[in-house]
Amino acid sequence: MTTLQTEVLVVGGGGTGAGIAWDAALRGYDVILVDRADLAEGTSGRFHGLLHSGGRYVVKDPIAARECVEENAIVRSIASAAIEDTGGLFVTTPDDDPAYGDQFLAGCAEAGLPTEEIDVAQALRREPRLNPGITRAFTVADASVDVWQLVWALANGAATRGARILPYHRCVELHREGDAVTGARLHDERTGETVEVQAAFTINAGGAWAHEIAEMAGIEGVSVVPGKGIMIAMNHRLVNTVVNRCTIPADGDIIVPIRTVSVIGTTDIRSEHPDDLPVTQEEVDAMLADGERLVPGFRNQRAMRVWAGVRPLFDDKKAGAGGSTRDVSRGTALLDHGERDGVGGFITITGGKLTTYRLMAEEAVDAMVEQLGHDRPCTTKTTALPGSEDGAYMSPGTRLRARDRHLKTEQLICECELIERSTLEAGMRARGSQNLDDIRRSLRLGMGPCQGGFCIPRATGILHSLDRLTAAEANTSMRSFLEERWKGVYPILYGDQLRQARLDDWIFQGVLDVEHLPGGPDRDVAATTAREAS
Ligand SMILES: Cc1cc2nc3c(=O)[nH]c(=O)nc-3n(C[C@H](O)[C@H](O)[C@H](O)COP(=O)(O)OP(=O)(O)OC[C@H]3O[C@@H](n4cnc5c(N)ncnc54)[C@H](O)[C@@H]3O)c2cc1C
Repeated sequence: MTTLQTEVLVVGGGGTGAGIAWDAALRGYDVILVDRADLAEGTSGRFHGLLHSGGRYVVKDPIAARECVEENAIVRSIASAAIEDTGGLFVTTPDDDPAYGDQFLAGCAEAGLPTEEIDVAQALRREPRLNPGITRAFTVADASVDVWQLVWALANGAATRGARILPYHRCVELHREGDAVTGARLHDERTGETVEVQAAFTINAGGAWAHEIAEMAGIEGVSVVPGKGIMIAMNHRLVNTVVNRCTIPADGDIIVPIRTVSVIGTTDIRSEHPDDLPVTQEEVDAMLADGERLVPGFRNQRAMRVWAGVRPLFDDKKAGAGGSTRDVSRGTALLDHGERDGVGGFITITGGKLTTYRLMAEEAVDAMVEQLGHDRPCTTKTTALPGSEDGAYMSPGTRLRARDRHLKTEQLICECELIERSTLEAGMRARGSQNLDDIRRSLRLGMGPCQGGFCIPRATGILHSLDRLTAAEANTSMRSFLEERWKGVYPILYGDQLRQARLDDWIFQGVLDVEHLPGGPDRDVAATTAREAS
């Protein structure tokens, strides 16, 4: 058993927890950040990818809208390397009430969101695939976010200031001494080891799981309503601007271009538990139909992958049991458990949006600083994250331009995402992980149309040679990657993606005989793939 001591323990390594770690480390605190899985494997890694301008909320939730307006500008300036400046359009489709556009304009003015109504012809020139039947179009400052880049920049920035970042460390118990939380017991999910943390202060950034973490301190009634949403990634960029329907927020009303793909989303359905997020055929069909309203022919395009995330909507009692989760505020819930429950050294922060991660972190750390009686102001508004010092936005063409330079000298490992061997090896060394899914999140390995069919056998071999994994360990890593990918592919198996799945199946089953490779339990991935795909 290992025992660690720290000033601040942050439980939950999504955007909020990583933001808190960075903020607290910048203020000079000694920090430990833990997550039960990889960083951003909770909701932050399963979101829609939009840095909200605030436009979505201007009519229904002006407070959330104002927060987004301010944070959008700040996050662009401090985390530019994780942001693509796509811009955004709100368009009135033939199914939308043109009068809503006037409410939208009034809401934008009130929230301080710069917008401009442009000619429909101009909007169609900018986005030629848009529904030619749109009747109004407004520009806003939406953008897309590479969340893994953002969260790891926050974590790495904190680490350079001494923070210890512990992914795959599940908090299984919070320690109480009298009326204060004094630390936690962690379970190392990879080694099985128990790690004790003694902490002067603990911050619960568990998102949709925040109630479970609060309960470990004996605190009841932290009610987070899990609002499930599905998203579908199409295999290329159908639009280059974030396109929103100009209407009261509804299902399937936004398409976000991000990196090499475009993502349509989302839905909002009350779910039983944040870990239980099945995707149904009906949801997929409805989402593809929603896509048709914005981009005619959408359902004939190649859908590559579907996934679900769960919103951490703090229940402020506006939403009754069984009611719609859209009626719950997108605002942040900051719970000072000293005031609320008589339990000191412990706060919970949940709700909000990825776009407001920085503000949430500032509010949480401010509350801690006040309780501790310190005077350490927040500096995250003006401190650029590592890699964003030059203020340059990420660009979808960067990898292609780099590839052109190395065409004859560098092996290409992942054709879809243009990942060269040296980049992959450097990424593998930097993560020090045997898990190909961790590498996927860092580099987008296997995230393109082939969903790992071509690159994963190569990457497995490279991981094997670099980390000196045994053959069995390398096989286990590959199988576990395939299992994860399969979850997002089987609900959308039609057309070209079905053909791709059959090809992948031949590669893994026919060529590699993955079912019978040594390593771990015989999980029969390929057999399941073959059965369900045929
Ligand atoms: C479908 C959908 C689409 C969305 N789209 C957008 C969007 O486009 N733009 C936007 O701004 N926002 C969006 N959001 C909202 C946004 O994604 C979330 O508000 C945000 O990511 C929450 O971040 P978080 O860090 O608070 O929670 P999470 O990212 O969920 O982090 C909580 C972490 O706690 C960890 N954890 C849980 N239990 C334990 C434990 N016992 N021990 C250790 N760790 C634990 C989890 O593994 C998880 O990583 C969307 C949400 C959904 C569901």
